[in-house]
Amino acid sequence: MTSISDDALNLSGVSKQYGKRGQPLLALDRIDLKVPRGQLFGLIGHNGAGKSTLFKLVLGLITPSQGHIRVNGIAVDGPDFRNARRAIGYLPENLVLYDNLSGLETLEFFAQLKGAPKNQCAPLLAQVGLEAAAGRAVREYSKGMRQRLGFAQALLGSPQLLLLDEPTTGLDPSAIRDFYDQLESLRAQGVTIVISSHVLAELQQRVDALAMLGNGRIQAQGTVAALREHSRMPIRLCVTGDATRLTELATALQRDANHAVLSTHQASPDTLEVRCAREHKMALLGLLAPAGLHDLQILEPSLEDVYFGLREEV
Ligand code: ATP
Repeated sequence: MTSISDDALNLSGVSKQYGKRGQPLLALDRIDLKVPRGQLFGLIGHNGAGKSTLFKLVLGLITPSQGHIRVNGIAVDGPDFRNARRAIGYLPENLVLYDNLSGLETLEFFAQLKGAPKNQCAPLLAQVGLEAAAGRAVREYSKGMRQRLGFAQALLGSPQLLLLDEPTTGLDPSAIRDFYDQLESLRAQGVTIVISSHVLAELQQRVDALAMLGNGRIQAQGTVAALREHSRMPIRLCVTGDATRLTELATALQRDANHAVLSTHQASPDTLEVRCAREHKMALLGLLAPAGLHDLQILEPSLEDVYFGLREEV
């Protein structure tokens, strides 16, 4: 059995309404969300879905209109949170930096604000690949360098919970890989990481689980595999073989009386792609087995396919 404090994050019935007097806007609507400790958890959703609002609520920067939030079992609106807040690292979507300070001075400034040891700053800059640029003014930093500095800032104080709002924006492919390698080793140390991103391909292989926000509500949550099941997106079987036999096979599959096959597409003379519902996969394999194929690949729907599939459902 799990208790509330086994969760790094626990949101129960959380709503946030902006603009009470003017035009009210319900940014989050009765959100229930649990993130177990030590997970790498993804948050996805369209622009304006409510991802940044959720982060700000967890940090106590804004207050919910309704509902309860606990971080490592501690209520965000309770007296103990001020102290617990030190164990949270946050990389906002747009971190404001003082252009005249150097990278090292910037980090030292944030360390002071956060009450983190100053001697963490230089090693953290090295960890994010900014060692050589530590003495340069931030005004001279590229977008990716500013983002790395922001990440170093989030790591100050060795947080147990990291909230990263679109952290890979502006990073080049090798920096993205380094970044996720670092997340992996932080997770191995027991750090819980919640990351929002619009780059679904990045998250697909890396997150333990994720939640999909849409119009302020959680539309789906779970592992990528569970969301695939839930979305009922078709799988694709890509087979190669003798061209004439593949053409015959395509014709036979299209006539399939059990309707296991949704569509076929002969991408090249010796390659046939067959789409079918997940529950018909084994039946379809049975149909393909006697066809004397050379090779077969099963292609699962990508997280992007699942995302669009689920959005259509709502
Ligand atoms: P994006 O992917 O574009 O960063 P998001 O999922 O992070 O979007 P939020 O920034 O949380 O979305 O915004 C959710 C909704 O709340 C939007 O409709 C936004 O306009 C609104 N909103 C956010 N902050 C405020 C604010 N301070 N005052 C009024 N409305 C706000």
